[in-house]
Amino acid sequence: MPNLSFVHPNETSPWGTYLSQVDRVVPYLGPLARWAETLRRPKRALIVDVPIEMDDGSVAHFEGYRVQHSLTRGPGKGGVRYHPDVTLEEVMALAAWMTVKCAAVNLPYGGAKGGIRVEPKTLSHKELERLTRRYTSEIGLIIGPDKDIPAPDVNTNAQIMAWMMDTYSMNVGSTATGVVTGKPIPLGGSLGRVKATGRGVFVVGREAARRQNVPLDNARIAIQGFGNVGSSAAELFAGNGAKIVAVQDHTGTIYNPNGMDMSSLMAELHKKGGIGGFQGADPIGSEEFWDVESDFLIPAALEGQLGRERANRVKTRIVLEGANGPTTPEADLILADRGILVVPDVIANAGGVTVSYFEWVQDFSSFFWTEDEINVRLDRIMVEAFKRIWETAEQHKVPLRTAAFVVACTRVLQAREERGLYP
Ligand code: NAD
Repeated sequence: MPNLSFVHPNETSPWGTYLSQVDRVVPYLGPLARWAETLRRPKRALIVDVPIEMDDGSVAHFEGYRVQHSLTRGPGKGGVRYHPDVTLEEVMALAAWMTVKCAAVNLPYGGAKGGIRVEPKTLSHKELERLTRRYTSEIGLIIGPDKDIPAPDVNTNAQIMAWMMDTYSMNVGSTATGVVTGKPIPLGGSLGRVKATGRGVFVVGREAARRQNVPLDNARIAIQGFGNVGSSAAELFAGNGAKIVAVQDHTGTIYNPNGMDMSSLMAELHKKGGIGGFQGADPIGSEEFWDVESDFLIPAALEGQLGRERANRVKTRIVLEGANGPTTPEADLILADRGILVVPDVIANAGGVTVSYFEWVQDFSSFFWTEDEINVRLDRIMVEAFKRIWETAEQHKVPLRTAAFVVACTRVLQAREERGLYP
């Protein structure tokens, strides 16, 4: 492990996992390998104190971070997470994965991520606003439309992006819509952003299926997580002839081998906030979800869901990673051995950051595109990115995850080499 004095990674910690992924890619980097150490260190990591006045008059302090892993190919890009488990090490790993994701899709960005160690559910609306505004002021030193552009992540949303944009704009003295993405539409947000990640999951799944000779018509889909990503992907798969045979969310697991009616399922989701009581399918046990026969298994909920034991059991042809980090490195090897294709998160769920990129471009030019234009451009970028990764996997005879890292890290290090070292 490299000797950064301020983190203590191990094989299962996020930064440790990222470092092993880099190690795996180095043999494929050729002469660029001499720059590989660049990938193992964040360019810049800022730790900020975020003091706010609580509604009862007391003062509370929270710890916040903004890490810019790489700015070599363009400004930093990456979300802001509010969660009690946020640490510098986790934010570093998430920032590094953004570098890889942006480069894998060939967006002109580096990678960054931010976070505050806080349980936002314990804060009032006003406290949350004060927290967001003070955090934005503190990281204002290093963010900006051409420096580093935050976006929503776990427990942050369009409202929080609106407060961030307003605070930054007040500090610089002019309205800077391009400082964050994932904003509300009236503040320069983009059409198509909400469903973009799910759309990207579908596009990449369709491309993988074509190459594996899996027809979409009547393809059986099992989805874990029916939130923003899972439900949008499910709607598109169903609209293209596939059958949603199993769904699991935090309210339950349901199964219907003939496929579920999507409009009633979506209505149930909007009415009850979950799919647990849906009448158009049978309830099954939560572990049984992993035994369902499918053509696509889409983990779109949490990280670490597909470990050794489940990887040995699943009966599917393609694992399509909507979530970030749902498959453990051990499960990756088992699935590869069993001939199950894993389409990795860095490409499968990159539709969100791609439409964030569109939002930023639209903000700069103050000219907004139609939803159709957004979707056509998204499709084109995802198809191109997947094709490049697929060809790299064939060329080196490696899994798609390694191939995605090879493509991405090569782009980052080529840029590094061409820029040279300053001074
Ligand atoms: P979301 O909050 O909208 O939905 C999460 C879903 O997971 C919900 O259906 C919830 O019920 C389900 N879930 C939670 N705990 C569960 C459990 N223990 N078992 C089964 N299901 C459970 O979140 P989202 O935006 O859809 O994000 C899902 C995943 O996709 C996350 O890993 C996220 O990091 C990743 N992702 C999201 C985006 C995006 O644009 N939203 C982009 C890239 C990656």
